[in-house]
Amino acid sequence: MKQSAKKSCAATKGNGTACGAAALPGSQFCFFHDPAKAAARRQAQSAGGLANRMATLPADAPDVKVEDAADVVKLLSATINQTRRGEVDPRVANAVGYLANIVLAATASANWKTGSPNWKRWLKTGGNQRERAG
Ligand SMILES: [Zn+2]
Repeated sequence: MKQSAKKSCAATKGNGTACGAAALPGSQFCFFHDPAKAAARRQAQSAGGLANRMATLPADAPDVKVEDAADVVKLLSATINQTRRGEVDPRVANAVGYLANIVLAATASANWKTGSPNWKRWLKTGGNQRERAG
């Protein structure tokens, strides 16, 4: 009887069960278990790792000062452009946007505590009314 073209991998998995994947042509093992494919596997893993690596600024990129709304605008402008150029992963940009929002909330809170004139005016109007024009 002619040998089947689709024979199964002869290797056993870590849990002791048979691999069961299709063996490579001319081999008794699948791609993942064939000792002759070890180098190819490493290369594929390395390529996959590089492809999945998140784009970030270099580790020695200078810190940015983010203390007020003007700083936040500068940071977000820079981050938007870095994202557009592919220098920063959109997931990193998303985190920057989220943290910038927290900075804005914190500075608004700090202005409240230091008695910013805008807040005092806001309180005089009952705290829930916008200033009337004229
Ligand atoms: Zn296998």
